[in-house]
Amino acid sequence: MSWKDYSFGSLVRHAIGGNRHWRQAWRSPEPRPRYDTVIIGGGGHGLATAYYLANRYGGSNIAVLERGWIGGGNTGRNTTNVRSDYMFSESAAMYDESLRLYEEFARELNFNIMLSQRGWVTLIHDRHQADAARHKANWMRCNGIDGEIVAADEVARMFPMLRIEHPRFPVIGAFLQRRGGTIRHDAVAWGYARAADRHGVDIIQNCEVQGFDWDKGAISAIRTSRGRIGCARVGMAVAGHSSVIAEMAGFRLPVTSRCLQAMVSEPIRPVLDYAVLSPATGIYVNQTQKGELVMGGMLDPGQSYGQRGNFPTIEKVIAAVVEMFPLFGQARLMRHWAGIVDIVPDSSPIIGATPVRNLFINCGWGTGGFKAIPVGGLMLAHVLAKGTPHPLAERFGLERFHSNRLVDEGAASGIAH
Ligand SMILES: Cc1cc2nc3c(=O)[nH]c(=O)nc-3n(C[C@H](O)[C@H](O)[C@H](O)COP(=O)(O)OP(=O)(O)OC[C@H]3O[C@@H](n4cnc5c(N)ncnc54)[C@H](O)[C@@H]3O)c2cc1C
Repeated sequence: MSWKDYSFGSLVRHAIGGNRHWRQAWRSPEPRPRYDTVIIGGGGHGLATAYYLANRYGGSNIAVLERGWIGGGNTGRNTTNVRSDYMFSESAAMYDESLRLYEEFARELNFNIMLSQRGWVTLIHDRHQADAARHKANWMRCNGIDGEIVAADEVARMFPMLRIEHPRFPVIGAFLQRRGGTIRHDAVAWGYARAADRHGVDIIQNCEVQGFDWDKGAISAIRTSRGRIGCARVGMAVAGHSSVIAEMAGFRLPVTSRCLQAMVSEPIRPVLDYAVLSPATGIYVNQTQKGELVMGGMLDPGQSYGQRGNFPTIEKVIAAVVEMFPLFGQARLMRHWAGIVDIVPDSSPIIGATPVRNLFINCGWGTGGFKAIPVGGLMLAHVLAKGTPHPLAERFGLERFHSNRLVDEGAASGIAH
């Protein structure tokens, strides 16, 4: 699809024609008997992998298999915050490349993802958080990434509705990454899907992977709800279901699957200029361009594949939001949902080879992988094309759990995991 598809002239022509002749943004093909590369999971990471594999690495004969609809997993369920305020240089380089790719997205893929770099703010409530925030900001500067500390009076100016002098959680400053912000999540999935489709990638929805066929220790075909599909190599990007696919392939992952919930209010007038996290209360809020307040909290305590919310979490999140922003108590809650995220011990992703020689993995993003979709796709595409890790992925292989060379980003992951 070229830019002309949505030009003024084209909109008028289609309107006159009753909007009956629009070209589909992506096809819904029947699966072929065999592909060179099959990517399991039609979330952002899977679709980005397909796009970069075709676009940057010259891959062809590629399919993405999605058991539901594209973006119907965590990609379409997240709270849309993006930032690159990670600490260790290897994580900082990776997440910042992702933000950079998002900044280029509209130009490269001709799709408006509504990138809003309104600033990402982490409130500071006590001396210890102030030390940690300064430490992080210094590290980020050393890594060449923007990040700064703002004083309490500046925070009061930025958030007129925030209860700065809260008796239990006083706000004594904040960490700010100005390039952080929000992106329309569905648009990321749709943008990559359309671009991948234009490169000939078959996106096959309602196609659940149920098992593998083997030949000399490698996967020779994938058994799916739509039949058997032969393949030379496989990439998987299934987030909270990574352990399920790994078990089908005969190995175990250091991943636990947990439920993460979020909720959204009715639309109200623009009142919140930044995306904001309050570590002391464990909640975060941003306001969409439509005016809804998007709110989330901590992970559910137990492991689960039950992708549904519950009232204790609603109560906890809303109580904390209203503690910090009392005026938000007047808004009504509109929707509430959950996703299953893939938690690893060091809060860093797992990218690259697996014990199965032609199966490659992208998982472990936990509560924070939306911001990493472009780079996650790029890194998985690289290893699928070349068989060696992308330079940004070298420290994020599965083998780190054997050598114990972890990259512990628990402090930067935002919502503790
Ligand atoms: C409530 C919530 C809030 C979040 N907020 C943020 C945020 O603000 N910022 C941020 O950076 N991150 C956030 N995240 C995390 C982020 O959403 C995820 O890390 C990211 O979307 C993962 O993308 P993915 O493509 O790997 O997974 P998904 O989008 O979940 O895609 C995986 C796909 O695999 C498919 N699949 C699974 N099993 C099979 C099978 N057997 N066969 C075929 N297909 C299969 C699923 O149907 C799914 O569509 C949040 C997550 C949640 C749940």
